[in-house]
Amino acid sequence: MNFDTSWSYAPAPENKTAATINSQYDLFIGGQWQKPLSKKYFDTLNPATEEKLSEVAEANEADVDKAIKAARNGYEKWWKRMPARERGKYIFRIARIIQEQARELAIIESLDGGKPIRESRDFDVPAAANHFFYYAGWADKLEYAFPNRQASPLGVAGQIIPWNFPLLMAAWKIAPALATGNTVVLKPAETTPLTALKLAGIIQEADLPPGVVNIITGAGATGAAIVKHPGVNKIAFTGSTEVGKIIQRSVAGTNKKLTLELGGKAANIIFDDAPIDQAVEGVINGIYFNQGHVCCAGSRLYIQESIADEVIRKLKDRMETLIVGDPLDKNTDIGAINSKQQLETINEYLKIGRKEGAEMYESSCRLPRKGFWCRPTLFTNVAQSSRIAQEEIFGPVLSVLTFRTDDEVIEKANNSPYGLSAGVWTDKGSKIFNITKRMRAGVIWANTFNKFDPSSPFGGYKESGFGREGGLHGLRGYVEIKV
Ligand code: NDP
Repeated sequence: MNFDTSWSYAPAPENKTAATINSQYDLFIGGQWQKPLSKKYFDTLNPATEEKLSEVAEANEADVDKAIKAARNGYEKWWKRMPARERGKYIFRIARIIQEQARELAIIESLDGGKPIRESRDFDVPAAANHFFYYAGWADKLEYAFPNRQASPLGVAGQIIPWNFPLLMAAWKIAPALATGNTVVLKPAETTPLTALKLAGIIQEADLPPGVVNIITGAGATGAAIVKHPGVNKIAFTGSTEVGKIIQRSVAGTNKKLTLELGGKAANIIFDDAPIDQAVEGVINGIYFNQGHVCCAGSRLYIQESIADEVIRKLKDRMETLIVGDPLDKNTDIGAINSKQQLETINEYLKIGRKEGAEMYESSCRLPRKGFWCRPTLFTNVAQSSRIAQEEIFGPVLSVLTFRTDDEVIEKANNSPYGLSAGVWTDKGSKIFNITKRMRAGVIWANTFNKFDPSSPFGGYKESGFGREGGLHGLRGYVEIKV
């Protein structure tokens, strides 16, 4: 492909003063901002500049206990007793306020997490509002979701979310829990707490009864304290498979209900009859969206051998055109890596890939001097057994493999400890059905990638976790069903 690279876009930065970030945030418990009993705060940084944005409270076990008690109180006193139609109105209100504050939320998301403003503005924030709208609609219709059965809330849900889609994951967790009559204690990730704290302000503005939503910040120990607290009835976790396993062990033998949305290593398969240019666009989006910090990223590319050279050449051409840099610039395609620690993990995998004999190609773009950055990268000559083909890298790094027959690619695609998502590119509808029904992945996209809708369930098989979020299925994890 011949992309004209002899010109470049003028900078188009979003105005960061359009967002207000406090210098310090306390814990949002019982409808109020409360000083942490731990008396400790930690910094949250802008990964694109390494500058401190704010400091947030670190909740210890006593703070967690306080938040869970507030959630119990909110459940018993208000939420459980409230007619479902009224609960729905509150959730609609949250959705509308998110829309009203969309610009500010998008700026904060990009500042705190490093993702391009185009993505936070056009994907994260609208998708979060949509999620609240969608579940608000279900609140008074549960008898249609579970016909001839009675669905009752579980009580208090402890929810732990990762750093890759902070506001959106908060919406995925909070909206279905509230719609089904539960109250929540949510902990955002240590590196990206700011939009969840902004959401706490929105919840206050929406005038939810005290204790219905509690948002507490902290590191892994805070998450662990939520998980082991006897006062929670349900744990919903999104994050690494490693921590998912720890959580599963911790709730074993208790009555706590659990859903886990964990890692992935999605196979994105291009057959020789596929529309190649569209497939190349889809592969680029599949792996480089959100710097590759996406659990369902199409990080293993399988190309049918006869078209491999052409696809790889076109991929490299397209990678050269990706704009890497200031997340607040509206032209930016790839922003900053979320944290120093994650950058180290990615760099380690780049080393492993080279050591395993794969051939590395990275775009020639210039990287800013400060901050955490990684060029869009791909590896060819990758073996199926290679670690870069088996393990989740969670960065802008694509492993490219080839295949000859349908049976071979299905065997290879399914040969993974994960099973969260996959993609298939072909001209033939019948082939899509034949291939996808033999693949073990929760979500399979055909001739597209990374498409999300609140009405569509999302979740995995094998080490990618269990339980579904989104859609009708997303209600299941928050109710007890009586026949
Ligand atoms: P984690 O799984 O550690 O973090 C997810 C959330 O769990 C965070 O809020 C974290 O808090 C919290 N947490 C950490 N330890 C515990 C614990 N023992 N009990 C309860 N909660 C806990 O992911 P990392 O941020 O460490 O990322 C590591 C790797 O995980 C990445 O390289 C990537 O491969 C994968 N990952 C996958 C995600 C996915 O969606 N599939 C999302 C994020 C990461 P805190 O952040 O404050 O430590």
